[in-house]
Amino acid sequence: MFSITASGTCHCRGGHDTCFTFTPIPRALPLSYRSHIVLGALPDTANKKDRLGRHMNIHEYQAKALLRSYGMPVPEGRAAATTDEAVTAARALGAPVTVVKAQIHAGGRGAGHFAGRPEGKGGVRLARSIEEVSEAADAMLGEVLVTLQTGPAGRLVRTLYVESGCDIARELYLSLLVDRSTGRLVIVASPDGGMEIEHVAAATPERIFKESIDPARGLCDYQSRGLAVRLGLKGREIRAFQNVVRAAYDAFTDLDAAIVEINPLVVTGAGDLLALDAKMSFDENALFRHPEVAKLRDENEEDPREREAAEYGLAYVGLDGNIGCMVNGAGLAMATMDIIKMEGEEPANFLDVGGGASKERVAAAFRILIGDPKVRGILVNIFGGIMRCDVIAEAIIAASHETGLHVPLVVRLAGTNVERGQAL
Ligand code: GDP
Ligand code: MG
Repeated sequence: MFSITASGTCHCRGGHDTCFTFTPIPRALPLSYRSHIVLGALPDTANKKDRLGRHMNIHEYQAKALLRSYGMPVPEGRAAATTDEAVTAARALGAPVTVVKAQIHAGGRGAGHFAGRPEGKGGVRLARSIEEVSEAADAMLGEVLVTLQTGPAGRLVRTLYVESGCDIARELYLSLLVDRSTGRLVIVASPDGGMEIEHVAAATPERIFKESIDPARGLCDYQSRGLAVRLGLKGREIRAFQNVVRAAYDAFTDLDAAIVEINPLVVTGAGDLLALDAKMSFDENALFRHPEVAKLRDENEEDPREREAAEYGLAYVGLDGNIGCMVNGAGLAMATMDIIKMEGEEPANFLDVGGGASKERVAAAFRILIGDPKVRGILVNIFGGIMRCDVIAEAIIAASHETGLHVPLVVRLAGTNVERGQAL
């Protein structure tokens, strides 16, 4: 599914190179888009939303547990949903410094702030006593954390990760992702860890190193060694870095991941490497092969519109415009979006109700469109092949009675049973 549209922008969420346009870096970006910037290309549809549920994100603590099982060195830690649990976790860790970290599906937590306290501390806090752990947990749980990636609405913190603190000598950046222009897995590393990598990519692209993996050969030792040397690692740090890359690569390929991002990967004062942060997202199309990963889904972190759409098996993608569209077939959906753009408007979504959609499915699709406060008008464009136009008409009528249609609606029906549909 790809498109080069009349307006030169892409509506599809596949992030294919044919869709890529070069745009300035938006302020707030979901993880899946950030990778495109690092690779030097960004789909124009980049907005504050995540993609079509094509990628499922998980929390840091879950990613660390998965990566650890592949041999990634990570600090000791425990998840906590209450202050008591956080205190118990800190006692069990018994570290001189404990780090209390808000678990939300967004980065930039350290530099973020809690809603209503713009000058206050962020979502990553160092605690030097059990009292400080308790204070940090109280201050974060049940509060809304705002970061560069969450947008101004922020995210409610429901879970904390309580970790042993470590002594940081250097912060590096490491990620693995799919480069769609070559169709290969690529390893991205930078000596400038701990910062927003898209800023490094924009300001000092020469400080970002990449290794493309030949799928036939897989990850080769010389590639991770080469990266280690370019990062300025020395002696046993090189071997440690190679082990980190191997663990990330094995986890990525084994679990059908879409992104593994470790930022920062730190070199400790003692010369060990540790993944201090970890973000992973997974290819939704392969989740059926990994029920243990699928279980990690946190519905609280997902867009309710996209969740409802997924329940009804609808291919729905929220966009930034005002014209809601309901179409059958991805090609017609993209052509319809092009038409909207050619007329100077912006689509509010991509929605393919599919070939043989039931009345329930079409009604659900319509409810999602009406329920979107951004939508100022709805365009229905259906070509009835297997799909019958009278089913569409019935569903639209039922759904608009049920939800109360408050915006202009334009319906174009063609194909099977079109007369019966129009009569309704
Ligand atoms: P993010 O802001 O959401 O990316 O969260 P991170 O997990 O990357 O944490 C942000 C920053 O907090 C890191 O870049 C580190 O500088 C700092 N940090 C995290 N864990 C520790 C720790 O154990 N010790 C120290 N000294 N700093 C830490
Ligand atoms: Mg980080």
